[in-house]
Amino acid sequence: GTFREYNTEAPQETSVKQLFSLKHKTAIVSGSGAGIGLQVVHAFAEAGANVAIWYHGNKEALDRAAEIEKKYGVKCKAYQTDVTDYENVKQVINDITKEFNGRLDIFVANAGIPWTDGGMIDGPLTSYHKVVATDLDSVFYSAKAAGEIFRRQYEAGGVSLTGTTMENYSYGSFIATASMSGHIANIPQLQSAYNAAKAGVRHLCQSLAVEWVKFARANSVSPGYIATEISNFVPPETKAIWRSKIPMGREGEAHELKGAYLYLASDASSYTTGTDILVDGGYCAV
Ligand code: NDP
Repeated sequence: GTFREYNTEAPQETSVKQLFSLKHKTAIVSGSGAGIGLQVVHAFAEAGANVAIWYHGNKEALDRAAEIEKKYGVKCKAYQTDVTDYENVKQVINDITKEFNGRLDIFVANAGIPWTDGGMIDGPLTSYHKVVATDLDSVFYSAKAAGEIFRRQYEAGGVSLTGTTMENYSYGSFIATASMSGHIANIPQLQSAYNAAKAGVRHLCQSLAVEWVKFARANSVSPGYIATEISNFVPPETKAIWRSKIPMGREGEAHELKGAYLYLASDASSYTTGTDILVDGGYCAV
């Protein structure tokens, strides 16, 4: 078939406040007990969404969820999930959808790990497999499980967003965290597995955008050098070189990613699918 066998009408023009509102929507963010993911949860909750935090080892996520519920007056719960285990991912997504008003609107596949084990020639293959499983396979698994729900909602005729002006505009939004390392081969030059996985994440989202065009949008965000746990293994000398290569002259803070994710999650990006947003202080522009 062609793209034209479903409703291709543009949504009605609305206020900027309404465009960025996530009121009544349900969002899941993986790897969100801390770092970039936690800031994304804050952004979504402030915009009115009910949000499920996914953590793996960091049990502080439970406290973060309670704080967010209190601060923004939305529902926020933390779930322990292993994103490298498809059955686990599918089960938790289905449980959350049932518990959160029977709907899923936004999924952010953000969990990830760096490659710390010695590079392509000296590093063990087991480490390569772990990086690809956590950074790329996990995005495929989450997309497969979330996409099934997005499609079901579309086939049911859309899910009404009571209280908003966009009653029938119930497209899903899938967002994955890629990396500037999926655009360029950044130093240290021992990141080929990570870089390849992140480039794969970008192209997976681009491909999903076309495969899912009837019922969901799919995009990625590529952060540059952001001050979080994940880069703690990087020696200070390397960090200094990174910093010197950033046109804006500093690393980014996790909260500076909020805008990109909120844009892609909300109706503000109703005509944006299959793209990647670099948030890197200009690193890749040079
Ligand atoms: P964090 O280390 O804070 O976040 C990574 C998250 O991934 C953690 O919350 C961790 O959960 C989760 N995670 C790891 N393995 C698993 C697993 N098997 N199952 C479920 N969750 C898992 O760092 P960031 O916030 O920086 O990283 C978020 C994303 O941003 C990652 O995908 C990373 O690759 C990407 N990124 C980061 C950049 C940076 O400079 N910081 C640059 C470019 C991309 P837990 O702690 O609960 O175990």
